[in-house]
Amino acid sequence: MKPMGPIPPAFGEQSGALTIGGHDASALVATHGAPLFVYDAALVAGQVARFRAAMPAIDLHYAIKANPLPALLARIAPVVDGLDVASGGELARALTVKPGAAISFAGPGKRDAELEAAIAAGATLNLESAGEARRALAAGDRLGVRPRVAVRVNPDMELRGSGMKMGGRASPFGIDAEHAAAVVRDVIAGGADWRGLHIYAGSQALDAGAVIEMQAATLALAARLAEQVGVTPPLVNLGGGFGVPYFAGDVALDVEAVGAALGEALAMRGAALRDSRFAIELGRWLVAEAGVYLTRVVDVKASRGETFVVVDGGLHHQLAASGNFGTVVRRNYPLAVAARMGAAAAGEVSVVGCLCTPLDRLGDRVALPPVAEGEVIAIFLAGAYGATASPAAFLGHPAPAELVV
Ligand SMILES: *Cc1c(COP(=O)(O)O)cnc(C)c1O
Repeated sequence: MKPMGPIPPAFGEQSGALTIGGHDASALVATHGAPLFVYDAALVAGQVARFRAAMPAIDLHYAIKANPLPALLARIAPVVDGLDVASGGELARALTVKPGAAISFAGPGKRDAELEAAIAAGATLNLESAGEARRALAAGDRLGVRPRVAVRVNPDMELRGSGMKMGGRASPFGIDAEHAAAVVRDVIAGGADWRGLHIYAGSQALDAGAVIEMQAATLALAARLAEQVGVTPPLVNLGGGFGVPYFAGDVALDVEAVGAALGEALAMRGAALRDSRFAIELGRWLVAEAGVYLTRVVDVKASRGETFVVVDGGLHHQLAASGNFGTVVRRNYPLAVAARMGAAAAGEVSVVGCLCTPLDRLGDRVALPPVAEGEVIAIFLAGAYGATASPAAFLGHPAPAELVV
């Protein structure tokens, strides 16, 4: 038997039939079909409220690549201060729910057409290189519009799961800290509307101490750069990196501790940042736990002493749960038999998807209650990097349905 991660509290405390936003999960599948992603909007709103309560008065941005579903974006946009996008496609989608002034566009390899679309919309370009800075200024000239730009800094520290690794690394993201001030001066001299600094040091941190250290180092770096430039950055985007517990042994991030420490650090900030605003950008922390991937059992088969529960979903929809999206060692996401939450385990099974590859394993030797053909398996933590971060075309199955409740 192998352990699985913790079921998010909103679902893990249930017994009997799983409900999502008050809806019976098996009934949702009967109505909408399977496989089905369901996102509970109230849980997302709860995370936003928790952030606001825990943090000092700073802006909250949503990084839409975590989950860009239009119906979900429409719920999130009104309650966050900004949307962070990373492609022209995401920019277009964000513009349907937020004004350009509330959108920032990061990411390497922005094409000229993408730069122009962002400038025309009044979005802020988070510049990733000196070359991109030049092309943004040129695009602004072509359009006759003053581009809004921030400089993304490749910091000289890195967010680690447990502590922080100091020392600059080469990166496709951001301008090396030692060159960032010069690029800021260049874009100001070139006539751009300099919006500030974007410093993103890492992702999926559960250790509050690591996040607190990272934020302190980020503030120190921003202050140093502001002094070098001699102009106060209007906005300092401190990055994000708030993680969620996916696997056995993971413990949720203590956001209240992070907020208290950030409040103190901001209160003590130097004169160079006195008039700056601050933002944190979050993806998975806002949406991951709100999503459940529901998939129906097609077959239960025995093979040489093991039991395989074969479902109609798989890694083509929820790659991360198969362990093939950025994890070094495959570990089990939390999953459950939707009709039997909290029931005792009947034995050890492996839950496998319907793709003809051994990679398509959604639960490896997990303890589950009895499960039969036609029943629904729920895979949790499916709200971020699920449907749009999976190879949907692989093996030619239909796309999953997605539903916000
Ligand atoms: C992907 C990304 C995020 C969101 O990361 P999460 O781990 O989902 O919070 C935030 N900022 C930038 C620059 C990103 O590339």
